[in-house]
Amino acid sequence: MNDNEVSNVKGKVAIILLLVIALGGLGFGVVYFFLNQPETDKNVATATAANSSDNNQVSTQNNVNFSELFAELGLDNNGGETNASGVFYKDGILVASKTYCLPSDYAPGESWEARSAFESMAEDARNQGIELTAFSTYRDYATQERIYNRYVQADGQAAADRYSAKPGCSEHQTGLAFDIGGPDSSRWAETTFDGTREAVWLEQNAHKYGFIMRYPQGKEHITGYMPESWHYRYIGSQATDIYNSGLTLEEYLGI
Ligand SMILES: [Zn+2]
Repeated sequence: MNDNEVSNVKGKVAIILLLVIALGGLGFGVVYFFLNQPETDKNVATATAANSSDNNQVSTQNNVNFSELFAELGLDNNGGETNASGVFYKDGILVASKTYCLPSDYAPGESWEARSAFESMAEDARNQGIELTAFSTYRDYATQERIYNRYVQADGQAAADRYSAKPGCSEHQTGLAFDIGGPDSSRWAETTFDGTREAVWLEQNAHKYGFIMRYPQGKEHITGYMPESWHYRYIGSQATDIYNSGLTLEEYLGI
């Protein structure tokens, strides 16, 4: 090997070293970029309902600790608390029910977190040959008022109260409730949906995506509503725990 060849080899080694350093730097940059992404699917899937309060634009602008304040004032309700927007929470979970209603101006829109969870659930279901449709999600106060009044006119108030929420008390106003059906729209929000492939799949799998069946069979005296095999509530990471407990949200939270 002469001097010329030696310097050629040195030159090649230098170029290779530079390439390695450059690629290493690029690789580090890419890894750093992905590690710092705040909204990956994983984060969405494991986010808790407590986080979704931000997405629902509940006011968190001041630093008053309402939990402590309400406890001091003796307004603590079953260990839960009503926040500055008039929305009741227990253990970080928003509750809308016949007992805990929402203010008429509470209008968060559909939760993006619940929507992304639904979309990933629908995709997985589709891959297993199950077609899911969210046919009704967010409803504002005025819409619920129209629906409820129509049912009362048709069936009378006592009957309507078993399947329809009074305005302000509907879980759909939270943006976290999804009415889910299959491809056959004639079964949407009907008891004929019970036992279908889609209903069974949802019952067994929805919790993995953060959803719980909110009004199960045999729990009307607790939830206040007739069973609804299509009505799912987005809870977040606690959904599987609730599912495994076999309890309704009311029983699980002790409210
Ligand atoms: Zn519903």
